[in-house]
Amino acid sequence: MKRSIRDLASVEGKRILLRADFNLPMDKVGRITDTTRLVSELPTIRYLVERGAKVIICSHLGRPKGFDFRLSLWPIALLLMKYFPGKVQFAHKVVGEKVAEQVASMSNGSILLLENVRFYKEETENDPEFAKQLASLADIYVNDAFGVAHRKHASTFGVARLLPNAIGFLMENEINSITEAIKNPRKPFVAIFGGAKVQDKIKAILNIAKSADCILIGGAMAYSFLVAQGLTVGQSLINAESVSSASQILEELSAAGKRIVLPVDHLAYNLGDKKMKPFATETLSGDMVGADIGPKTIKLFEQEIKKARQIIWNGPLGKYEDKNFQEGTFAIAKQVAKAKAYSIVGGGDSISAVKQAKCEKLINHISTGGGATLKLLGGEPLPGIDVIQEKYI
Ligand code: ADP
Ligand code: MG
Repeated sequence: MKRSIRDLASVEGKRILLRADFNLPMDKVGRITDTTRLVSELPTIRYLVERGAKVIICSHLGRPKGFDFRLSLWPIALLLMKYFPGKVQFAHKVVGEKVAEQVASMSNGSILLLENVRFYKEETENDPEFAKQLASLADIYVNDAFGVAHRKHASTFGVARLLPNAIGFLMENEINSITEAIKNPRKPFVAIFGGAKVQDKIKAILNIAKSADCILIGGAMAYSFLVAQGLTVGQSLINAESVSSASQILEELSAAGKRIVLPVDHLAYNLGDKKMKPFATETLSGDMVGADIGPKTIKLFEQEIKKARQIIWNGPLGKYEDKNFQEGTFAIAKQVAKAKAYSIVGGGDSISAVKQAKCEKLINHISTGGGATLKLLGGEPLPGIDVIQEKYI
């Protein structure tokens, strides 16, 4: 078990370098469209502020190449000021003398937000000198940036090796919810996978399959499974790599005696005249493109979801961005929300779909990680977590 901020003896007057994930989504003109990631970070910041720590926050935003004012963290400093009036300062750099001076003038219980750490190429290179400069600003390092825990960057990995360290509440919550659900699942445990690329999710599917009782597959990835079983899918979205990953999964799952449920019908459209129609799986061919699970599949999945005591879901079951093809994903979101099961939903698009279906409040754990969530589900190492010291040493 990793050391959490709760385990730190006293933080009063201590300089804490908090790696947060303030990579908030923005529209084309740079307006922040969703503050969930910032709001989820507030409990950790509050905990430290209330205990009189000097909280130096570091984050990335987007993928800048060098300084780019459109990706400055200044608008996020303004947002933070609303939650912590009179306590927030902004540093226009991440390291250097000027920043060190600002840190030196911090009072207990105040916050200093550093500029976008990815303005420095040394960050993604995990440059040791840059990590050293970052470490020199603080007494303790706290990583709460779950979204980048799979990255070996200076601010997520390098700096952790140079300071006493701990994880924050958000990270702790993600690790506890997900690892516990995989290690000690409530049974029956139903896993639902969708989305487009099987190859991105192969490790997660295989790892979850070890403890799941039943795996439901929908979305574009279902077509790779159907092709792997020798069926035709018309012009539905598949690729060679996905089909070969699907074959591997089918083989391993059948060897382990696991149940995998594939769609029996689809909402498909014709590539030529765009006419939509429900199709049974065996009749999908020619110019038809499967874009959502059909009504019979929704019923079939519902029977499994109803029985479940634990559900993990990643990946929309259809092209949910298009109004014509959101029914399957939204229906399953409602069923998962209604089920008597402990539910976990992960993945950017899956979360967005669950929110659009107005079901997010009834999901037990919404995992914010994207790539990090898939790695954790896959039982793969996450450098940003592994580098943190254990609770008992
Ligand atoms: P998440 O972000 O939740 O991990 P993914 O990124 O893997 O999910 O997959 C989401 C994408 O998959 C969406 O853009 C959705 O439109 C697409 N998708 C799902 N089903 C289909 C389908 N049948 N045909 C085409 N695209 C699909
Ligand atoms: Mg996605």
